[in-house]
Amino acid sequence: MHIGLPDPTRNGALAPAVLIVGSGPAGLFAACALLRHGVMPRIVERLLAPHGETRGTALQPAVLEILDRAGLIEPFLRAAVRIRQVQLLGPHLQEIATAKFAGIGCKYEFQCSLPQWRTEAILREHLARLGVKIEYGTEVRAIEEDPDGLRVMLESGGRSETFTTAYVLGAGGAHSVTRHSMQEHLEGATYDGRFIVADVKIRLPSPPECGRVIVGSKGFGLLSPLPDARWLIFVNREEADIRRELPAAEAAIGDFDAAEAGVPDGGAVLVRPDGFIGFRAAPANEATMDALDAHLTTYLVPGRCSRH
Ligand SMILES: Cc1cc2nc3c(=O)[nH]c(=O)nc-3n(C[C@H](O)[C@H](O)[C@H](O)COP(=O)(O)OP(=O)(O)OC[C@H]3O[C@@H](n4cnc5c(N)ncnc54)[C@H](O)[C@@H]3O)c2cc1C
Repeated sequence: MHIGLPDPTRNGALAPAVLIVGSGPAGLFAACALLRHGVMPRIVERLLAPHGETRGTALQPAVLEILDRAGLIEPFLRAAVRIRQVQLLGPHLQEIATAKFAGIGCKYEFQCSLPQWRTEAILREHLARLGVKIEYGTEVRAIEEDPDGLRVMLESGGRSETFTTAYVLGAGGAHSVTRHSMQEHLEGATYDGRFIVADVKIRLPSPPECGRVIVGSKGFGLLSPLPDARWLIFVNREEADIRRELPAAEAAIGDFDAAEAGVPDGGAVLVRPDGFIGFRAAPANEATMDALDAHLTTYLVPGRCSRH
């Protein structure tokens, strides 16, 4: 049985009692949870189509337990690579510390690592099987209280719609219309600094099922395995480096200081931690990824690492 509100515009059919704003992981998972309890939500998303971004990649053991309880764990176990340890390394890849998930007392003593677009696709596929479709290109513009519930103003393809619902579940991310409609402010602070976040297909010599944080005098780099021989690379940039274009690869090789970057004789790799590429956490597209991939290749130890 599904729960809803009588909708006079639908000849007595039930309108969804819950409107979910946003189809990121929070909105999609909330929809899965509501469906388990017999509530069929309506989900609107202002993007025209799903994104393809690699962020939010590490699903922690506690999140895996929640997915398990929701009956959703299997596709995540199949799609993700498992990270069982994270190494903290210094110059020359000297080990400073290693954190292992073994023995933490959870059912899943590892992180599942996969791009956020894949996480969202898994949740969307589950919802589609249960008959829920995401309404793309539909933006919530305002939410007001109404004697019958909440009046929500939607806009889709230049057309406006007013929709009354009992509950609005605000999953619109950081700049949420739901939060604004309640005169609430997002608490918290933004980290200082500028970072490169990239998803690249390269082969890196690294222990299996291991994430690495490598610190040097100019900053840090995070290397985290993803499915399909890809890596999430997160590197800080120098504040002063505001270049928006890549330097020529030859010039970059000339700049490269292997010892500073922590590349040992035994062969390993680090993206130079002083910032060398001109985008800030940009969404991946062919051009930026090709440029970054080519550029990263210049930082690999020849013969030890190779690009696929
Ligand atoms: C570059 C980058 C790198 C990141 N890296 C990491 C990481 O390494 N690890 C990590 O844990 N987290 C990371 N994050 C954060 C992670 O992506 C977020 O925590 C996560 O996406 C939050 O999920 P969410 O569902 O709450 O919101 P979102 O994923 O932001 O989804 C909100 C959705 O709501 C839609 N929306 C917003 N307003 C409206 C509206 N009015 N009407 C209709 N739709 C609306 C948006 O289009 C969006 O699709 C990163 C974020 C960014 C930007």
